[in-house]
Amino acid sequence: MIVASDDTIFSDALRRLDKAFQFADVDPEVILRLKYPKATMQVAIPVRMDDGSLRVFEGYRVRYDDSRGPGKGGIRFHPSVSLGEVKALAFWMTCKCAVMGIPFGGAKGGVTVNPKELSRLELERLSRGFIRQIADFIGPDRDIPAPDVYTNAMIMGWMMDEYSKLSGQRVPAVITGKPIPLGGSLGRDDATGRGAYYCIKEFESRKGWVPGEMRVAVQGFGNAGQSVAQLLYADGYKIVAVSDSQGGIHNEDGFDIPSLAYMKNESRRLEAVYCNGALCETINADRLTNEELLKLDVDILIPAAMENQITIENAEQIKAHVIVEVANGPITSQADEILNKNGKIIIPDILANAGGVTVSYFEWVQNKAGYYWPLDEVHSKLRAIMTREFGNIYDLMQKYECDMRTAAYVLALTRINEAISAHGTDRYFSGND
Ligand code: NAD
Repeated sequence: MIVASDDTIFSDALRRLDKAFQFADVDPEVILRLKYPKATMQVAIPVRMDDGSLRVFEGYRVRYDDSRGPGKGGIRFHPSVSLGEVKALAFWMTCKCAVMGIPFGGAKGGVTVNPKELSRLELERLSRGFIRQIADFIGPDRDIPAPDVYTNAMIMGWMMDEYSKLSGQRVPAVITGKPIPLGGSLGRDDATGRGAYYCIKEFESRKGWVPGEMRVAVQGFGNAGQSVAQLLYADGYKIVAVSDSQGGIHNEDGFDIPSLAYMKNESRRLEAVYCNGALCETINADRLTNEELLKLDVDILIPAAMENQITIENAEQIKAHVIVEVANGPITSQADEILNKNGKIIIPDILANAGGVTVSYFEWVQNKAGYYWPLDEVHSKLRAIMTREFGNIYDLMQKYECDMRTAAYVLALTRINEAISAHGTDRYFSGND
């Protein structure tokens, strides 16, 4: 196979292309092209700290492929952000937008920083500084950022404001996941978790699951992890373990998820509590590490934190029957083989967490039209798209007798292939686009 980079995470991400190519009826040159990001930008962001000192942060933006439309993908603030990671995330965005049939290519950005160490003003200066550096690289019809790990609506608002100042006009469609008063869409906040929830509901109806009998573990209790846990809990699923970067808690009776979420969001601590209004009482729970959480004997495991969590080291010890990849890339390609051999069902990231980018697409449409939709319209449109593409992937999985991830990549490749060939022969002769 051709590997375009020696970055482990990126080359591992590309392995999925080779596997899907065995089934997909696509031009081999499309596969070759998809092994290289179209454009990458690396920037230095000087930030004046509150104590008067200067720090310089490194940031990246990668536009992976724009055959199907402008680049689309989040911005991550995390100490482990690297160019290889951003390229892998941008590649996954390309496939995800194709899987959902929304008119975007793939992109991603990130800044290597621990945002927990910054004051709010420092965070705002960093966010605005990053946008100033990448302003010529993004745009509402070129490349549209959104939130990802440790970035949120407030940060998207600052970024849109900075871009608008540079443009001399208000440009809400340059970024999605904004606060509602700045042109955000209703329903964007929980869209990623909600999309995963709709996928689980599709499995529930096909397999005849009884919610009260399903035990669930969630790794990562942030935006996406909390949302999917809340929706499953409301349907009667038992959430028996949750974790954050500091570790997790476990109780076989299941947790009251709104109470845990209240505590986590108010105090930034993950505590086993039951809350009545603002009064929270500690309840019994075991402490466990993130590694132990992954190996719990549960029905559904939801990795909703970071990539590379299930690897060749621990894949044999995974007991959950179903794994729903709410995080991007939580399972390496080698671990995938082991899990498939052991009969595990994996709902792949490019489907399971695509609710976020789908409602980001709705936000962009609303910004361009200047007309905003009620929440029930956002939910019903999201459900329709998730259900349609889940069904398409399920059918391909049965047709090719392959795993669900391979089926999702077959669907993505087919759509990207169609778009590239629809552009005509110019690209063939010049190699340019
Ligand atoms: P977030 O910052 O809101 O939450 C991340 C959570 O993960 C936090 O609870 C944090 O404590 C925890 N965490 C961090 N490192 C961890 C570790 N090593 N082990 C266990 N927990 C850890 O981020 P988010 O937006 O919820 O994103 C989570 C995942 O979902 C990421 O992989 C992201 O790329 C993916 N995702 C997010 C969106 C979105 O719209 N936010 C969309 C698609 C995919």
